[in-house]
Amino acid sequence: MSKRTLAQLAAAHLDGQRVVVRVDLNVPMADGKVSDDTRIRASLPTIQYLHGKGARVVLLSHLGRPAGGPDPKYSLKPLVRDLEKQLGFPVTFLADPTSADAVSQVRHLPRGGVALAENTRFYSGEETNDPELAGRFAALGDLYVNDAFGSAHRAHASTEGIAHRLKPAVAGFLMDKELRFLGEAVDHPKRPFVAILGGAKISGKIDLVEALLAKVDRILIGGAMACTFFRAMGLDTGNSLVEADRVDMAKSLLAKAGDKLVLPSGAVIAQKLESGAGTREVARDQIPPGWAVYDIDSGSVTAFAAIIAGARTVIWNGPMGVFETPPFDHGTLGVARALAAATASGAVTIVGGGDSAAAVVAAGLENQVTHVSTGGGASLEFLEGKPLPGVAALDDA
Ligand code: ADP
Ligand code: MG
Repeated sequence: MSKRTLAQLAAAHLDGQRVVVRVDLNVPMADGKVSDDTRIRASLPTIQYLHGKGARVVLLSHLGRPAGGPDPKYSLKPLVRDLEKQLGFPVTFLADPTSADAVSQVRHLPRGGVALAENTRFYSGEETNDPELAGRFAALGDLYVNDAFGSAHRAHASTEGIAHRLKPAVAGFLMDKELRFLGEAVDHPKRPFVAILGGAKISGKIDLVEALLAKVDRILIGGAMACTFFRAMGLDTGNSLVEADRVDMAKSLLAKAGDKLVLPSGAVIAQKLESGAGTREVARDQIPPGWAVYDIDSGSVTAFAAIIAGARTVIWNGPMGVFETPPFDHGTLGVARALAAATASGAVTIVGGGDSAAAVVAAGLENQVTHVSTGGGASLEFLEGKPLPGVAALDDA
């Protein structure tokens, strides 16, 4: 079901109007400063567009996980300067967006003015989607734009409740882009359609494996996830990260998937997870006691890359190894490069997952794939076919 978007609203809907925009400014902070402004930059197109149309813009976002109530450590106030620098004009801070004072501050914004509200999670009721709080957020505006794809899988007052109280309620540019890329890939994939799954745990991604098996032509599995499958095949896995309580499930997935599911033929193993640790490449049935799998081996990278090269749609979620600790980043880098090469020859390639996205960015390949999703958990739930409450609540197109 496609959703009404900001681009579809007539200029008269925006000029002079108060627009509440839920953005994702949940940025990493270090020493009270923004240490990575990717999310700020990703939210600029919607803000600049509204500014240009003469709207009065109110930005709502959460930051971190404050434990019940205001906590200066999680204040959004330091982001005012970052926003001002990027936008090139002053930004008003709403210290308490639930107050009557905030409503008046917004009414006094000039046409095209922008205000940033304090962390939505400072107010009890945000995470329980309290209608009273949603009503207070709604009182700040005349219409609602949700541009926070990364928070859309949560039914919170600022993502879901408010969308029922403030109409029109539409998707912003970033939200729309995410829904189009992920939606197209899943609903109308050009084939062959290949998924690559990895990461630490299979338990969080069972629904994903099940949902994708029904849709894709191939699933390539790497990361520690592969070790649970190795165990299901009766192989010794040494000290590798295996989820013992998921081995039976892995067995039934293997039986169901047949040759759709491709596991690594070998692994990079070590006795310790350390940069300088001695490593070996072994076949998957040669993992000795005392050693653990930390990456897929070079033969598997080559095999995966060949399958990726033949694909026309690729979805990737989860690194192939402990990429944070070189040399166990080879498999992940190899897959990232294979995605870039497939993109150059016309495939649609999508990276969804916080750590896999970070790996692609670290490799400097973010502009050589079709789309890097900004929403880790949200993209996972979307690919699983679950409705995202923050999206469902928006107006239908
Ligand atoms: P994403 O955020 O892309 O969805 P996950 O959060 O599921 O990915 O998994 C990422 C984590 O998986 C990384 O921290 C990585 O170190 C870990 N990981 C990958 N392969 C292994 C392995 N063989 N053993 C232990 N941890 C692994
Ligand atoms: Mg992760």
